[in-house]
Amino acid sequence: MNNQLYPWQHEQWNSFVRMVGSNSLPHAILLSGPDGVGKHHFARNLVATILCLQPNENGTACGQCKHCLLMEANTYPDFVHVMPEEDKNTISIDEIRELITKLHLTRHFDAKKVALIEYADNMNTNAANALLKTLEEPPEETIIILVTSAPLRLPATIRSRCQFVPFYSPTQAQALDWLNSISNDVEWEPLLRVAQGAPLQAMQYHETELLDQRISVIQGFLELFETNSDPIEIAARIEAIPFLQCFQWIQAVIVDLLRIKGAENPITLENPDFYRPLLALAPRMQVPLLLEFWELVLERKRIFDNSLNRRLFAESFLIRSHKLAIKHSV
Ligand SMILES: [Zn+2]
Repeated sequence: MNNQLYPWQHEQWNSFVRMVGSNSLPHAILLSGPDGVGKHHFARNLVATILCLQPNENGTACGQCKHCLLMEANTYPDFVHVMPEEDKNTISIDEIRELITKLHLTRHFDAKKVALIEYADNMNTNAANALLKTLEEPPEETIIILVTSAPLRLPATIRSRCQFVPFYSPTQAQALDWLNSISNDVEWEPLLRVAQGAPLQAMQYHETELLDQRISVIQGFLELFETNSDPIEIAARIEAIPFLQCFQWIQAVIVDLLRIKGAENPITLENPDFYRPLLALAPRMQVPLLLEFWELVLERKRIFDNSLNRRLFAESFLIRSHKLAIKHSV
């Protein structure tokens, strides 16, 4: 595993290293923050450090001791790793039960037992309830680390039993420094802005089709404001795109429209590439309508569950949005 830390995480890292050193880590930790700021990478490094027999001076795992080698080979017996499969996007009760069973087994080594649950908000209700009991009465010498970019999708009971550790995007200067150190012939600034300041997201935009997906979601959303647009057809275009990501993009559009309405001078937008269409649309939108849209998106984000029928979910959201747009537009 790459144990290089991102430069914007050093401070947070040092405080965790101190806790590992003094054996004062909380038994349940929830790492939470926007996509693309490196919290998964941080969590995996933290696990490696907790288990390593002789960490480096900066606290990262040595990569050479017996524990590190077993971790590298994915065979460390006192570590349980749960994350949704790519095509499934849910964490089932069976997976959580297996995790709990493993945590209750006798330790093989004289180190902590560690469970890492990535994208933890994908636990279904039964899985979350099963985990809750273990969070309330954790086995001895056990650390459970959850990672999420959507903490509100986790039950409040789970959140309240974990030490909440927020992650933020770095400053723009820090992010650009880092991105330029990766490649200095890319124009990173617009990508970073579209990624809402998250450097790894900006990099993903550069490397994948995410940018195209974003464009089709925003275009689809803007089309809803045309009386003759067809929400069903728009839903078909975007149903394959991860919904939570779609909602994040739509929220950025709403923020931009509010900014344009409130501004007297030209302003910086979250979606600089949509400057003209947003500027044209803003006068037709009333602030209460934008707030209603915001509420609708929040509500959809809350109730979204990966087991739902994607097409139906997309259609119902877009039909409601279309009705809202047409009802209020002036
Ligand atoms: Zn080691």
